[in-house]
Amino acid sequence: MKHSDAAPLPAGDFSQWLRDMRAALGGRGGMDVACGNCRGCCTSSYYVKVRANETAALERIGVANLEPGPPGDPGSRLLGFQPGGHCRMLVGRECSIYPDRPETCRSYDCRVYAAAEMNAGEGRTEINERVARWRFSFPAAEDQMEQRAVAAAARYLRQHPVRFAGGHVPSRPSEIAVLAVKAYRVFLDPPADDATIRASLVQAVADFEA
Ligand code: SF4
Repeated sequence: MKHSDAAPLPAGDFSQWLRDMRAALGGRGGMDVACGNCRGCCTSSYYVKVRANETAALERIGVANLEPGPPGDPGSRLLGFQPGGHCRMLVGRECSIYPDRPETCRSYDCRVYAAAEMNAGEGRTEINERVARWRFSFPAAEDQMEQRAVAAAARYLRQHPVRFAGGHVPSRPSEIAVLAVKAYRVFLDPPADDATIRASLVQAVADFEA
């Protein structure tokens, strides 16, 4: 039987995925995502951060395609996109520097939106179609508890302006979903008052990044 483009896709056991995702965000390995023919993350007007120590990626991309890094991380560079939103390294539907692609691309995993019960934002149709298809498995009570905590953290961050290091208040869907993965433990047993929740989120992210 032929699967339609909207057919559900297995996303794996939730708690195992969460451990792998947290390791990838901590720079300890990439994610193995069943992208199939989806190129959503390469065609959705994302700036790709390239760290200063990613010499092979920086060399392959070339200075002409790189822009200054984000505030707070001046050593890194940003790989931009072409008019229409396609990454400058995408040729046809293939990454032209795949073996040397940046860490940002290796750790990108759109299942993070499914985990956080949100989408990638307006205009990111190809990613959102894929996000809607992911189905996690919950073989143990822990899987369910952890997914609920990730979703609750993301919901809180969407509804409350929380000021993180450097005074930044996250608002982009990608940063909110990633922060929810970093700080989900706050919502396993959330404090009763807002001030403590905010402080706990900031501390949890600082601890993760330390
Ligand atoms: S560098 Fe390659 S993998 Fe990364 S966004 Fe660009 S085309 Fe996609």
